[in-house]
Amino acid sequence: MNIKKFDGASEDFKRFLAASNASMKQYEDSVGEIGRQVQEKGNQAIFAFTLKFDGAKIDESNFLVSEDEIEAAYDEVDDDYIFALDQAIDNIATFHSRQLKNSWMEPDERGNILGQLYRPLERVGIYVPGGTAAYPSSVLMNAIPAQVAGVSEIAMVTPPAKDGSINPYTLVAAAELGIEEIYKMGGAQAVFALAYGTETINKVDLISGPGNIYVTIAKKMVYGDVNIDMLAGPSEILIVADKKANPAYLAADMMSQAEHDVLARSILVTDSETLIERVQEEIEKQVQELSRQDIIRQALENYGALVLVPQMDQACAVANLVAPEHLELMVEHPFDYLSRIRNAGAIFLGKDTPEPVGDYFAGPNHILPTGGTARFYSPVSVDTFMKSSSIIYYSPQGIKEDAEGIMKLAEVEGLTAHANSIRIRVKGKKKK
Ligand code: NAD
Repeated sequence: MNIKKFDGASEDFKRFLAASNASMKQYEDSVGEIGRQVQEKGNQAIFAFTLKFDGAKIDESNFLVSEDEIEAAYDEVDDDYIFALDQAIDNIATFHSRQLKNSWMEPDERGNILGQLYRPLERVGIYVPGGTAAYPSSVLMNAIPAQVAGVSEIAMVTPPAKDGSINPYTLVAAAELGIEEIYKMGGAQAVFALAYGTETINKVDLISGPGNIYVTIAKKMVYGDVNIDMLAGPSEILIVADKKANPAYLAADMMSQAEHDVLARSILVTDSETLIERVQEEIEKQVQELSRQDIIRQALENYGALVLVPQMDQACAVANLVAPEHLELMVEHPFDYLSRIRNAGAIFLGKDTPEPVGDYFAGPNHILPTGGTARFYSPVSVDTFMKSSSIIYYSPQGIKEDAEGIMKLAEVEGLTAHANSIRIRVKGKKKK
């Protein structure tokens, strides 16, 4: 397999990174057209795209997942799955409960009261990918923080298989969390339907969830008309490894991301040339056993990179430049590196913490910013599903004492009506 090699400080490497992000732009026209059709024709456009892209015949009669389908899904999954699922639900709920913010109000000595009121969003749409793999774990990572936040309506969307069914593991995950409104649709059309509504779907206030390039671009396009969690597109891993790291582990971890998508990005950064060679050998050896080897090969050849740096300090600089979705620190003293990392969606420390630990089980969210957006976005959290209002109460003493200052600033801005709304309240009192 021909994985590109770079010197970490080279212009070539920067060009490679820029090219992987730029190549996403070519999908914008086709996604825009999907948006126009869905807004114009509603359900009929969705059904047509579902037939075209997913090969499934969906209409009003089978668009919404029925109770019978949920019951049938339970018959298909094994008890061990439900046991593991419930353990994961516990861990994820415990982690996210710690993020819940309380509303607060604080009086001052003049009797003024200031504060912040936190409220959950009322209706959200969650996207659960389902094109080339099933992601029941994404049901948990979307819905649990929304439920902890107190969201009252959750509409879930996920693409159907060719026979019009939804993966039973995904349906059971939704049912375990009490989600009842599940539409069989995916891709950009599902995002536009949630954002603008159709004959059967009420529009939502926020769309969250990971997806492929079409989903991600659609989320970018509807942002502003609705809120979105962030841009969680094709997966990425960057592994910072020192010469003591186990090449078999590194190869396995690079491929665990590459198998998501032909556009997934797996990058190894190290100061050891020998390690790079041994990781390459391991990839060749292990890939043969993996079920999604075609996707892995394409992803690694197009978007994979083996990056050599002169010293491990520079490895952190490369990580900050890439701002990866997942960052693994496969080094002898991982906690020593933490203070040097600025940009990463999730950071996995040490040889026993491969990225799948976080994908499914540990508790933190697996919906993470991609495409370098970890420079300014955070993982999905309870905050994603909440908003706040400021609370301001002024006492008679407060307004009297602050009147001069407020009027001055209003007059400087030339807003005399603003100044007047203060003056009218204090002018009588001033004369006393
Ligand atoms: P998906 O549900 O995201 O996409 C499938 C849909 O894509 C289909 O239903 C179809 O409507 C649409 N589509 C396919 N080909 C199209 C075309 N030519 N034109 C227009 N639309 C088309 O499922 P997927 O494809 O398996 O991708 C899942 C993605 O989610 C992967 O990229 C994976 O890396 C990513 N992911 C990211 C995170 C994260 O936190 N960033 C987590 C999990 C998964």
